[in-house]
Amino acid sequence: MNIGFIGLGNMGGPMAANLAKAGHVVTGFDMADVSIEGVKMAETAAEVAKGADVVITMLPNGNILRAVAGDIIPAMSQGAALVDCSTVDVDSARAVAQQASDANLLSVDAPVSGGIGGAAGGTLTFMAGGSPAAFAKAEPLFDIMGQKAVHCGDAGAGQAAKICNNMVLGVTMIATCEAFALADKLGLDRQKMFDVVSTSSGYSWSMNAYCPAPGVGPQSPADNDYQPGFAADLMLKDLRLSQQAAESADADTPMGELAQALYTQFVESEDGQGKDFSAMLPRFEKRGRS
Ligand code: NAD
Repeated sequence: MNIGFIGLGNMGGPMAANLAKAGHVVTGFDMADVSIEGVKMAETAAEVAKGADVVITMLPNGNILRAVAGDIIPAMSQGAALVDCSTVDVDSARAVAQQASDANLLSVDAPVSGGIGGAAGGTLTFMAGGSPAAFAKAEPLFDIMGQKAVHCGDAGAGQAAKICNNMVLGVTMIATCEAFALADKLGLDRQKMFDVVSTSSGYSWSMNAYCPAPGVGPQSPADNDYQPGFAADLMLKDLRLSQQAAESADADTPMGELAQALYTQFVESEDGQGKDFSAMLPRFEKRGRS
């Protein structure tokens, strides 16, 4: 396929390189001066879109996605597919899908989980929203860039799945960290706490697979001085998107709202910037009730 790739940062760069390695012709564009192995760079986003079978975007946010979509949709060939893999708000995903459909293009919102390691290793998980025809066109590319793609429903469903998952993740990580801090103050050994909770009804991915306590459970960022894995500021971005969506859909999400408030405080007023999102544990450790 002729593939256009726009947004070649930490995630997009290795994803585009994997598509080129698999034998596709990949043309790329980024605002920054980047070079990616196997990818021919173009001067503008519209140039990338011209003649492409599929254009993939991997951009920072919904406003940038809307601006880029405005540039590329008029330049894309009829029947081509626009596949946005960025994490953006559901409203922007749906607005771009409508614009694409008005121009007789296929489109898929397909945010990912798996982080930078997953992008480099081609092991991402894609959560996709769009028509069956659009998903079918993108699926062979998901197979190269990832290990799993779930077709979640119509336009916006991929973004909805991503932010609902990450709202659960943010809330359970906070609950896990505050429980460890309480266990400390009650004199309960952390390893014993892990042995019980990880095999009892309090178990979760945060506890069992990504334990925030250093030296306990499988290797995790806690064992590497909380260098990210999944940075607290990216968790905050996703929690904000979940609350924006909840506002727009009139959904009551008190735990998500509280998780957003705590990560805002952690990232903006404490020392959470640049740390893994599990560094909530040392934060709770230092605090008392007031
Ligand atoms: P990044 O900042 O490394 O990359 C974004 C790239 O987009 C940059 O290279 C930037 O120059 C480029 N860009 C910005 N505006 C542009 C424009 N108008 N035209 C062309 N290029 C433009 O970010 P990233 O970590 O690669 O994340 C990309 C997306 O993936 C985000 O939506 C993020 O939330 C999501 N995501 C990231 C991770 C992660 O672990 N990094 C995990 C899952 C999802």
